[in-house]
Amino acid sequence: MGSREFSRGRRVVARLPHGGDLLAEIAAVAEAHGMKTAELRAIGALQHARLAFYDQQAKEYHEFAVDEPVELVSVLGNVSQRDGATAVHAHASLAGHFGGTIGGHVAPGCTIFACELILQELVGEPLERAYDEQTGLPLWRGL
Ligand code: ZN
Repeated sequence: MGSREFSRGRRVVARLPHGGDLLAEIAAVAEAHGMKTAELRAIGALQHARLAFYDQQAKEYHEFAVDEPVELVSVLGNVSQRDGATAVHAHASLAGHFGGTIGGHVAPGCTIFACELILQELVGEPLERAYDEQTGLPLWRGL
């Protein structure tokens, strides 16, 4: 276990563009405001979605598509850095006409219908991701 303290910085509110990719648009907002580390939350709707589940034994993501319009009930995640680029890590709960919710790790390919994003900047030494041997995941380095 490791931890580090950050101060709360700026809070940015954004309306993400119709037709954009959820992860890419979140990264673009963070970059536009020069945020290296932030926490994020969002709500809205997607035209279709692509989520993933991490197989802890195989150490690989299994992606699945949701090929219909869904409500974006909740998106929680964070922004940090990986190999000098903005890395958005987000999980989402989705609801559709199927009468329930599904969720998972947000993968590229979530097409925005409408989305309201709030980014809370965390001020301090930027969090960096690096490959973690034990989990096979790009986890925060130095924590
Ligand atoms: Zn994840």
